[in-house]
Amino acid sequence: MTVPIAKLSFWGVRGSTPTVDPATWRYGGNTPCLELMTPDGTQFILDCGTGLRMLGSRWAAPNGGKAAETHILVTHYHWDHIQGIPFFSPLYVENNEFHFYSFRSKFLGRDSLKQVFEAQMAMPYFPVDMSAMSAKRKFKEVDGGDSFKVGENKITAQWLNHPQGCLGFRIETSAGTVAYATDNEPGDAKLDENLRELAAGADIFINDAQFTPEQLETTRKGWGHSSWLEGAKVARKAGAKTLVLFHHDPDSTDRMVDAILRQAREEFDSVFAASEGMVVTLGAPGDRVQAHMPGTRTALRREAQFHAKVCGVTEGGKDFEEETMVRDISLQGALISLKHLPRLQSELQVTMEAPGADGLQTMKLRGYVVRIDAGAEKGHSAVGVVFTD
Ligand SMILES: [Zn+2]
Ligand SMILES: [Zn+2]
Repeated sequence: MTVPIAKLSFWGVRGSTPTVDPATWRYGGNTPCLELMTPDGTQFILDCGTGLRMLGSRWAAPNGGKAAETHILVTHYHWDHIQGIPFFSPLYVENNEFHFYSFRSKFLGRDSLKQVFEAQMAMPYFPVDMSAMSAKRKFKEVDGGDSFKVGENKITAQWLNHPQGCLGFRIETSAGTVAYATDNEPGDAKLDENLRELAAGADIFINDAQFTPEQLETTRKGWGHSSWLEGAKVARKAGAKTLVLFHHDPDSTDRMVDAILRQAREEFDSVFAASEGMVVTLGAPGDRVQAHMPGTRTALRREAQFHAKVCGVTEGGKDFEEETMVRDISLQGALISLKHLPRLQSELQVTMEAPGADGLQTMKLRGYVVRIDAGAEKGHSAVGVVFTD
């Protein structure tokens, strides 16, 4: 007998608007889009932010993992959750079939999501209209409190606290339960209870962590979002096993998300910060919830042998220090002190040397000058380069 495994892929994790700032590359800049493959072979897509385009590009690849039908759950109609729709190429392929689930908005009335499709693609906002979308599309209205089955999976929708409404979804599969609750502000007793019901005993609880607890109490109060601290409290109260911090603020750099994650891990044992390309499997023997991070985006690697001292914290929370060899490193960029003043956006060749196990090692890299600042030493400039190959 094979063990039932569900696979959850994160295609977009950023809230509000996509970001292209290099300081946000590691966690990623695409807006919400998740894909869940359940053990019975059902393919779900959660939200249609700009991450959906990437999922669509992979669709046509060999072993793209495409199912015969796809079930798409849309939490609400804010731009960051629908913007990927016109750019999702499988919608333009006749044999594909999509089932969309979302709520009736009081601002749109019947067939709300269908109207959203039409409005997004109306002239002059998009070069082609809806008639170009040849895939089969079915729309189903879902209300808070509704439960229904897709394949062997049970879906429950609950209202969350967000301007113009937002649904959270709980998906119970034979491998475990995923609760997807983004775009929610705590503080409404009834809706807070809904959130706890969604998260109750969930193996994976994905929650809005856009703001810091300080912002949530002051400048961002009433904006419809939550913090890592609120997520940790709900996870604990509801008995969720793993918390995934999601919907990162567009102004949060990778370092800021790192800090948020560090603090959340002090409050709750099993926490991940959602990262574009991250894949979480559910139901495997041993660790029921396993996360796999993407390789670095630029994937620029050089084989090397550097002596290194590594300090860190073990799984059990103990500090450690260890001497080792680094055998493969990936490089994205460097800050170099130079007497010469290179032209901005020109190419530099950088050769690095380091003592290795068998003598001096050299590493040749081509870089692109992205910034020039006054250097710390007199007569030197601090040159920022991004390595290109
Ligand atoms: Zn959002
Ligand atoms: Zn929203």
